[in-house]
Amino acid sequence: MIDLDITSLAEWSGAVDRPLVIAGPCSAETEHQVLASARALAELPVDYLRAGIWKARTRPNSFDGIGDEALAWLVRAGRETGLKTATEVATARHVEAALEAGLDLLWIGARTTANPFSVQEIADALRGSDVPVLVKNPVSPDLALWLGAIERVHAAGVRKLGVVHRGFSSADQTRFRNKPMWDLVIELRRMIPNIPILNDPSHISGRRDLIHGIAQRAMDLGLEGLMIEAHPDPDNAWSDAAQQVTPERLGEMLDYLAIRHESSDDVDFNTALERLRQEIDRVDADIVEVLSLRDRVVERIAECKSANNVTTLQVSRWNSLLEDRMAKAEELGLSRDYIKSLYEIIHQESIRRQSEIMSVLKDVPAVPS
Ligand code: PEP
Ligand code: MN
Repeated sequence: MIDLDITSLAEWSGAVDRPLVIAGPCSAETEHQVLASARALAELPVDYLRAGIWKARTRPNSFDGIGDEALAWLVRAGRETGLKTATEVATARHVEAALEAGLDLLWIGARTTANPFSVQEIADALRGSDVPVLVKNPVSPDLALWLGAIERVHAAGVRKLGVVHRGFSSADQTRFRNKPMWDLVIELRRMIPNIPILNDPSHISGRRDLIHGIAQRAMDLGLEGLMIEAHPDPDNAWSDAAQQVTPERLGEMLDYLAIRHESSDDVDFNTALERLRQEIDRVDADIVEVLSLRDRVVERIAECKSANNVTTLQVSRWNSLLEDRMAKAEELGLSRDYIKSLYEIIHQESIRRQSEIMSVLKDVPAVPS
């Protein structure tokens, strides 16, 4: 666990018993577009108006943001509608300009979080200011890099601190622009239990039809807020057009979200849950028992193979085993992917154990696992 002194979200954002919502266009394009976004979003349960001013684009010669000029548009939109304002900062100069303009919240983008030099430069520029800062996850699924960025910003004295899960680049072809990794988010929650975690379903999905479902997943997990891209004319947005929604659609989505709580006072619910948890505990005890039985068979296989100088791995056996287990799982209503990942771990351990046992039998020095 990492012990950080963090101000609670309720204290600085006003979001109590509901998610904090940051919404607005991917990029500030024109003063009119920023004002039109703000006016429509101010009618919704939205706390902060977001807009990118300096955009880190993947390829040159794309629209890379309006720059400093747009700061005044955001400030004016905030003043006119009562919304607080937020933008992304990637350099110390961005921080200085945003603070000077009086923006209410800053976030560090995924590409920037990935670079400790940049994060340190930003943290140094934030020293002495009271502005809330959100650290988006780095592009790659590297929890240490994310934690390091959070620690750098915290060490600079920022206490109104939070993070945003915006998904991760992945070599696998997935339905997502940036694959959500809920396991990493849960691990972050375990490591720093008091840091507010927001979810950015827009950058995770890359497409507007998936935003609602991802936002609900985040609420199911008990995350504290959402950052969602909304634009008055999404199809003609200058960046990230496919993932932006109209303020109207955003309103419908927010209306429809089920907001969950970590626990309930309902006695019947608590009794039923306790009973089900005992059931799960018994099933889990059986699983561990069965895994140990399996391990004993693996030992005998290792002895057999060792005596006959046969390799630990037989690819065709592994393929047919996996296919068989996936098919069985499917018959029982489990997903093939779930059983595949599980068996990858089980099989990897079987191979490691066989090698370990075969080494002992042949008196080969052990390799640490
Ligand atoms: C953004 O919020 O517009 C943005 C560029 O996000 P990310 O850093 O998550 O890619
Ligand atoms: Mn964007």
